[in-house]
Amino acid sequence: MPELPEVETIRKQLSDYLPLTIQKVEKSDVVGSILKEESFKLKGKTIHSISRTGKMMDFYFGSDFHMLSHLGMSGSWRISPTKVKEKHTHFQLTCLNRDKEKIFLAYVDPRRFGNIYINTKEETKKHYKKLGIDIASEEFNADYIWECIKKFPNKEIKPFLLEQKYFAGVGNYIASEICARAGIKPTKKNKSLRKKDAHSLLEGTKSILEDTISNNGTTFSGGYSDANGEKGEGVKNLVVFYQTICGLCKKTPVIKITQATRGTYYCPSCQK
Ligand SMILES: [Zn+2]
Repeated sequence: MPELPEVETIRKQLSDYLPLTIQKVEKSDVVGSILKEESFKLKGKTIHSISRTGKMMDFYFGSDFHMLSHLGMSGSWRISPTKVKEKHTHFQLTCLNRDKEKIFLAYVDPRRFGNIYINTKEETKKHYKKLGIDIASEEFNADYIWECIKKFPNKEIKPFLLEQKYFAGVGNYIASEICARAGIKPTKKNKSLRKKDAHSLLEGTKSILEDTISNNGTTFSGGYSDANGEKGEGVKNLVVFYQTICGLCKKTPVIKITQATRGTYYCPSCQK
């Protein structure tokens, strides 16, 4: 499932091709489960920039127009000088770049849990309201983490990190990795954490984001691929998630448990 590093990789790759002016829009027969809102026509509009908050991408068309994209379980964008003919392509934009060359921008999603919203600025705001501070931004600091932790004393830290309303961009593998790198057992209740733990969680976040974004994201068992259709290499830097031996102490077998229906991995020696 694409998390912040995967979305950021795709965002950067697509951004290299901007600006792109849309000439033609093609949709698959089943695009209705993905394309949820369409309040204006894309034809003739120019994509000037793509920003990201958490796992949400925001294609900006100038003045009042935005296209938001959530990749869901298996979504990705492709960019190509030739038409994208990959299976599960649900949405394809034929564009012209600055040199009037054709570029194809396509949304591919085998499982179709992703969403696209084509909206005015005003309607776009309601999607931003659902998101907390982006974990890769400068505003994400130890004071912010500590405030969030204090608000919910009875929640367990690892499932709490998955709440996008507070930690925009954290997904399941990132949450396990943050706890491991912070040296915190994922089942710990927020009320048993101290201010220094907020600092450790911040450092853990920076560490896993660096390790994965620099490798163009992380691909598990054939899942995510980037805007060029390539797999991410970030998995080689994971210390607990999908690992048998802890990558920190390099000797303790990793334990897998289930928390709030999601798999959690941790090292019983490194995480207390
Ligand atoms: Zn360990």
